[in-house]
Amino acid sequence: MRDLSKLPKAHLHLHFTGSMRVETLRELAAEHRVRVPSALVDDDPLRVPADERGWFRFQRLYDAARACVRGEADMRRLVDEAAADDAAEGSGRLEIQVDPTSYAPFVGGITPAVEIVLDAAKAASAAHGIEVAVVVAASRMRHPLDARTLARLAARYAGEGPGEVVGFGLSNDERHGDTAEFAAAFRIAHRAGLASVPHGGELLGPSHVREVVTALRPDRLGHGVRAGEDPRLLAELVADGVAFEVCPASNVGLGVYPALADVPLGSLVDAGAQVALGADDPLLFGSRLLDQYETARHVHGFSDPELADLARSSIRASRASSATKARLLAGVDEWLASPA
Ligand SMILES: [Zn+2]
Repeated sequence: MRDLSKLPKAHLHLHFTGSMRVETLRELAAEHRVRVPSALVDDDPLRVPADERGWFRFQRLYDAARACVRGEADMRRLVDEAAADDAAEGSGRLEIQVDPTSYAPFVGGITPAVEIVLDAAKAASAAHGIEVAVVVAASRMRHPLDARTLARLAARYAGEGPGEVVGFGLSNDERHGDTAEFAAAFRIAHRAGLASVPHGGELLGPSHVREVVTALRPDRLGHGVRAGEDPRLLAELVADGVAFEVCPASNVGLGVYPALADVPLGSLVDAGAQVALGADDPLLFGSRLLDQYETARHVHGFSDPELADLARSSIRASRASSATKARLLAGVDEWLASPA
């Protein structure tokens, strides 16, 4: 078995606040005199009985963590550490997802909030030998007009390289809000050449995946794992080239599946789906990108050639330039050619 931390890969599903290291959260909480629930700093906040996991507990913990990020220095630190941690695990391309709304009050608005993240992404790319691009994400909990404002802002920074916006997302509780009402925001993003990367098919099943597909025309689905409950839908998504950002630890942390073995990774791959493994929120789920590949190996029995294919899928599903994709894919070939 080859070292999975040396396998070049792209990380396409990581949230800004959720990427935070536990030590960083402790330090920021102390610095800003914010009390955080002890579960958050006990290293494995969602290791609780399955029936207590659920979205609301997750949301409460996430909000508490976000309350510790209070300004430009904190924001820059988060991006830098996310890049460093990703690079250390073999990621050559990170597309980090941020909703600037929560940080805007500390830095003078959503525009500076986005610009700080983009500038930090550029600096972190140079510092850590990884490309860090940004997905701007709207929240289902807010008004669809807010999503449009964010889409217009994201469009101004559209590109494919480090420190540029590559995609537009829709996050937060999938059961909240009317998906179709966000279509206008996604049209703005689409016209600017941004990838459509909404969440869907984690907390809700195939019928909501269909709504997301119809309204938001995703290039990649955040999660999408439950699309497999309808084989015809899955076949359509595969035929349309929609990629799946599969985050096993998140699925289990939120109680979508009882155990890692129940995450339908093998059946998605067998159906021909383009899968990019992601960590979603390491702070909450207690595992980073590499752990997802280790899960594929040890829980789902993926061989090294199959793991290399997963890495290739992630690279192809990214918005990196063709030169970057070619370089990373060549690295995957080298990894596989190296002695086990
Ligand atoms: Zn997510």
